[in-house]
Amino acid sequence: MKQVAEFFKKLFDTSDWPPRWHCGKWTGFHGWLYIISDLLVWSAYFAIPLIIIRYISKKHDARFIRIYFLFAGFILACGATHFFDAVTFWWPLYRVNALVRAVTGILSWTTVFYLIKVLPVAFTLRSSAELEAEVEQRKKAEEKFRNLLESAPDSMVIVNEQGIIQLVNAQTVNMFGYTRYEMINEKVCMLMPIRFDVLDHLKSKGMQNDSSPGITKEELTGIRKNGEQFPVEVCLSPLVTEEGLMLSAAIRDISEKKLMEKTIREANINLERKVQQRTAELERKNKELEQFAYVASHDLQEPLQTTSGFVQLLHKKYHGRLDPTADQYIDYVVQASGRMKTLIKDLLDYSRIGRGNESHLVDCNVIVREVLADLHNVVVENEVYIKTGQLPLLHNAFPTELKSLFQNLVSNSIKFRKPGIKPVIHIDAQQINGCWQFSVKDNGIGIEEQYLERIFVIFQRLHTRSTYDGSGIGLAHCKKIAELHGGKIWVQSEPGVGSTFYFTIADGH
Ligand code: ADP
Repeated sequence: MKQVAEFFKKLFDTSDWPPRWHCGKWTGFHGWLYIISDLLVWSAYFAIPLIIIRYISKKHDARFIRIYFLFAGFILACGATHFFDAVTFWWPLYRVNALVRAVTGILSWTTVFYLIKVLPVAFTLRSSAELEAEVEQRKKAEEKFRNLLESAPDSMVIVNEQGIIQLVNAQTVNMFGYTRYEMINEKVCMLMPIRFDVLDHLKSKGMQNDSSPGITKEELTGIRKNGEQFPVEVCLSPLVTEEGLMLSAAIRDISEKKLMEKTIREANINLERKVQQRTAELERKNKELEQFAYVASHDLQEPLQTTSGFVQLLHKKYHGRLDPTADQYIDYVVQASGRMKTLIKDLLDYSRIGRGNESHLVDCNVIVREVLADLHNVVVENEVYIKTGQLPLLHNAFPTELKSLFQNLVSNSIKFRKPGIKPVIHIDAQQINGCWQFSVKDNGIGIEEQYLERIFVIFQRLHTRSTYDGSGIGLAHCKKIAELHGGKIWVQSEPGVGSTFYFTIADGH
């Protein structure tokens, strides 16, 4: 410790040694060669750090800055040892020299340690050839991107976060009529009024690195350079680039599509108007026909009543008093006028359906009970088994018509029973799509497929009167009644197995 203290105390003391010139036998040449060489080494070692520091100060992105500084310090210190070697020829500053060497040694080893530490990182650095290859690759990718952009069928515009146009393709030039130069660095609003809340939304999506960055599709109005406005469909999507978040807009001119839509819309409106006209016309004609049927059947009743009255009188008074052929003829006329009476009455009933009646709250269970009571004798006679499910309460229904509907269907099920088999009828209802769907199912003779629609037409029958009695108006009644309730009627049937008649009632309340 004493030596160390004395060392620093006598740091600049030169009294302990003679100048180096006087140590040993230096010739002038040898001494000056030594001194000049040392000074050359020192000056070079002094210049190198200056160059290194200048390099670093210019090259802001240089890596391993600390290494550069360590090198500079280490070289400077090495230079200083040479400088002091030369100085000792006149001033034997051996203590200072030793200190400078110690500092040089410490700096050298610090540099060595630091080098070892950064070596693995340095190994990972790409060589200039690798960097060049990467630059080349990037150039190619950029070229590909540009080609893609240029060959896109849509106009492509890339804008930055502030909505400033950064890039456009050839289609944009064609579509909007501006040159690229006129568009770049201008606000995208010059081409179309993109709403900025949409941009903000996309930006936030892009920032969140959303795996499915939102693409919004919007229909906007494009504005050409000449001021012409045209409809466009714009697909906006965020684009994360090295220069920050961008937005790419793919713009498609949809003038033709819009024109087509307009034409279709107009055609639809026209069609609808025509359909409405036709429907109104049909409704008017239907009403006229109904009116005609009503008036005709009503007015025909009176002369028919007279004819049949007199024919019956004729039959009563003269039967057996004329010859047998005359008796037969009179019988035919009596029968025919009887049929005619029934037909005209049916027709009158048909045209009266819904006339002047008001809808009420109707319990279908009560209606069916009444129908079955009316048909009691036929039911008992034919040993009919009738099963009825829970039927609904209808808020807006015509009770008389509804009763007639059930009556027709049930009596048909009994009339068209299969010979030798007891009739089984199942009446039920269920709610489907807000409507009540009723069903009347039987195990009768069934109907062949080709007649399933025809049987609902007025006076259409599938059998002769001698096989099954009837006028062929019952199901036409049913159809009119179902339609009066805003519903429809249809049948599903299998010949020899049975039929199920369905009808719906739209029960608005
Ligand atoms: P009508 O019973 O007076 O003949 P409808 O209009 O009631 O007239 O019926 C038309 C035709 O539909 C009937 O002639 C018959 O052929 C057929 N039909 C109706 N209901 C049934 C049924 N439940 N089973 C088999 N056929 C039926």
